Amino acid sequence: MTAESAAPLLTPVLGDLYALQVPIPYPMKYVTVLIDRPRGGPVTMIDTALDTPEARQAIEDGLGALGLHWSDVDRVIITHHHPDHYGLAGVVEERSGASVHMLDVEIGRGERYWHLWEEWLPGHLKHMRDHGLPAESLNDMGADNRRGRERVHPASRVQPLREGQHVTLSGLEWEVLWLPGHADGHLGLWNEEQSVLIAGDAILPRISPNVGLYAYTRPDPLGDYLQTLGKLEALNPARAVVGHHGPVMEGVQARARELRDHHHERLDFMKAEAAREARSAYDLSLVMFNRDLNVSGRRFALAETLAHVEHLRLLGQLYRTWNEPRGVWLYHA
Ligand SMILES: [Zn+2]
Ligand SMILES: [Zn+2]
Repeated sequence: MTAESAAPLLTPVLGDLYALQVPIPYPMKYVTVLIDRPRGGPVTMIDTALDTPEARQAIEDGLGALGLHWSDVDRVIITHHHPDHYGLAGVVEERSGASVHMLDVEIGRGERYWHLWEEWLPGHLKHMRDHGLPAESLNDMGADNRRGRERVHPASRVQPLREGQHVTLSGLEWEVLWLPGHADGHLGLWNEEQSVLIAGDAILPRISPNVGLYAYTRPDPLGDYLQTLGKLEALNPARAVVGHHGPVMEGVQARARELRDHHHERLDFMKAEAAREARSAYDLSLVMFNRDLNVSGRRFALAETLAHVEHLRLLGQLYRTWNEPRGVWLYHA
């Protein structure tokens, strides 16, 4: 390890609240882990990164730079159940005895599947197959999911937070927000006084957060996300702490509008493509994401395409029919 990479990437956010950039083996390279160390108050960690030796080390170094150790963490708040945010939750819980908190919706809709993973996987693969994923890709996708599972150490007990509730961070009151779309129970924390939002992956500066329809998720994640973008636009935070490509971004309102336009363009494109020829969501995903993608990229592409065509179907603008010989759903006008 070089001396340069050993220095923890810590950014002061507000008062005693710091954002740590933790490495992840994904194209985004880093995930943001927040550490709050108020004098006399509980030490809080927001998000925990993926369970890799590099991430464990980076968090240990970040805590160390603030004069803390794992055992000092009193409370963990998770923005959403994705492995790059939740992976080490169980490790922090074990090492510190910290309580772990998530939005109530996310405990039921995402977190529980880490505990029921062997039962979840067949349903997930069937969902992908029913929407056209070729049989030869199913094994690769299962193996890729399994690799992801190995980097998640679920918490033994997660306590619910509810929308509208308040939590104290850095001596300030933060309102718990529900920002669904990227994940069903995605949580945000909002401090109006300072106009700061802890946003997780609900909005990102450089990439469009994946909005995908997966097995067992809410039926219209894109509809949820378009509403979340409206909420973020109205909130108009001066600054947001984001999960990737941050840790802090400005211009949330303009970015929310840009992302809404982007999804509207994709909806128009999908509608026209499905009207031209009845096709499975997988075939449509090859048109929408017309580039070389690895197995997890193809999964995101299929789930994202499905979120768009299902949104159109629920609006009555597209239909779907089960094609018995092929064993797939076809979308058409
Ligand atoms: Zn995420
Ligand atoms: Zn993420």
